[in-house]
Amino acid sequence: MNETLDMKDVRSYSIENIEELMISYGEPKFRAKQLFAWLHEKRVENFSDMTNLPASLRKKLIEDCRLITLKPVKVLESAIDGTCKYLFELYDGNIIESVFMRYKHGNSVCISSQVGCRMGCKFCASTLDGCVRNLTASEMLEQIYRIEAHKGERISNVVIMGSGEPLDNFDNLIRFIDLITDEKGFNLSGRNITVSTCGIVPKMYELAEKGYPLTLAVSLHASTQEKRKALMPIANKYDIHELIKACKDYFEKTGRRMTFEYSLVEGVNDGDEDARELIALLKGLNAHINLIPVNPIKERNFTQTKKEAVLIFKDKLEKSGKNVTIRREMGRDINGACGQLRRSYIDESKKE
Ligand code: SAH
Repeated sequence: MNETLDMKDVRSYSIENIEELMISYGEPKFRAKQLFAWLHEKRVENFSDMTNLPASLRKKLIEDCRLITLKPVKVLESAIDGTCKYLFELYDGNIIESVFMRYKHGNSVCISSQVGCRMGCKFCASTLDGCVRNLTASEMLEQIYRIEAHKGERISNVVIMGSGEPLDNFDNLIRFIDLITDEKGFNLSGRNITVSTCGIVPKMYELAEKGYPLTLAVSLHASTQEKRKALMPIANKYDIHELIKACKDYFEKTGRRMTFEYSLVEGVNDGDEDARELIALLKGLNAHINLIPVNPIKERNFTQTKKEAVLIFKDKLEKSGKNVTIRREMGRDINGACGQLRRSYIDESKKE
C-alpha cells in the first residue's frame, strides 16, 4: 500500500533534507532556502518557473525529482453557504476529495490523508473499496495550496477529516504537520489543525509524545464496546476503555481538550440509554462532543436521527456538564457525505 514515488518528492522534504540534496548536487547550501520558498511560499507548479535558480540546477531537478502538484478535475460550489468541494487528480491518476468551508472564525479546509480507507466503518463511503494508497505529505499540502490559490483567500484552519485514516499514514502525517507549520512555509499555527482518528490507540500515544498543540478528534460513535464493534471494525482491535485511556493520556501530555465525534444513527446509538452510557464513559474527561446526524450513503441502510431527537440527546449531555455542539451541515446542495463525490465521479468515468 505504500506509495512508491519513482522520483524524489521534494515538496515533502524538510529544509534539512533539501540542504542535503543541494550538497549532493554540488550546489551551495543557500539554494535550499530558495527552493523551499518556491515550493511552499510561491507554490509553483514547475521547476522551470524557479527563476532565481541557475538553469543547470533546474535541469537537475527536472531529471531527478517529481514536483507534486494536484490537478483540480471538478469544483462544486454551494449556492447556500459558499462551501466548495474539490476533486483532485494525483500524478498517478488517483482521485481525492477536499472541502473548503467558510466560518465566522475563518476559512477551513478539510483534507484527505489516503486514497480510500481500510478502516471499514459501516456508515462511511470512503472505505467501501478499501485503501488504494497513502498520500504523501506533498499531496496533503497541495490540497491546501491549490484551494487557497483557487479561492484567493487565506486558509486559517486545517482539518484532517477527509477520506482516509491519518494515523494509519503516520509518518507522512508528521511530515505534513511539520511542513504546514513551518515559519518559512505556510506558517499555520498548530492550534489551528485538527486530526480526526477512528482510534488507533498506539499511534495516539505516539502523537501525544510529539507534543503538538493540535486538536485530536476521536470518532467514537458509540458508548459501549459492543455497539462500537458493530459500527467500527477498529474496535475489535482496541477496546473502548483502552481508547478512553489513550484520550486521557493525550490530554495530560498536551493539555489540549479532546473532541469526540458522535454520528447519530436512528435507532442504533441515539437512545436514552446511549446518552447515559456516554456520560458515564466520558466522566472526568475534559472533552467537547460533536454530534453529527449521520449522512446516509446509498450503499448502506442508515437513517439520520430526527432533529428533535438530536436536540434531546444534546440536552442530556449538556445537563451532565459536557460541552456539546451539533455539526452544521455545510454544502447540502453539492453532494452528501465524505467520499461520496469521489465515488460518483469514479463511477461516471467507468461508464464513459
Ligand atoms: N478516519 C478518520 C477521519 C475521516 S472521517 C476518522 O475516522 O475519524 C471524519 C469523520 O466523519 C469521522 O468521525 C467519521 O466517522 C465521520 N463519518 C464518516 N462517514 C460519515 C457519514 N456517512 N455520516 C456521518 N459521519 C460520517
